[in-house]
Amino acid sequence: MSLNIKQGDTVVVRTGSSKSKQGKVLRVEIANGSILIEGVNLKKRRQCPRKAGSKGQIIEKPAPLNYSNVLIWCASCKQGVRIKAKMSGTTKTRICAKCGKTI
Ligand SMILES: [Zn+2]
Repeated sequence: MSLNIKQGDTVVVRTGSSKSKQGKVLRVEIANGSILIEGVNLKKRRQCPRKAGSKGQIIEKPAPLNYSNVLIWCASCKQGVRIKAKMSGTTKTRICAKCGKTI
């Protein structure tokens, strides 16, 4: 995983039941390569009642996807793309492998 996806990036899902869905990256877990995306891969969970007498409710929470299943969204290509790292001076920027625009 040399080309990192970072928290706050917009990504698009390549495969699976959430295919072609877009969302903002909420969390990246580098250790196991899982990525949590806002509004993508929602799973229903029952929340237990906190207080006696109140009802539990069903909430939807995103479940993490594997890193290899998502691509970074390029606003100018209007699609998920692979990215390249480019050094400009001492800072590393990420550019779209397709159009060369900075992500
Ligand atoms: Zn592009």
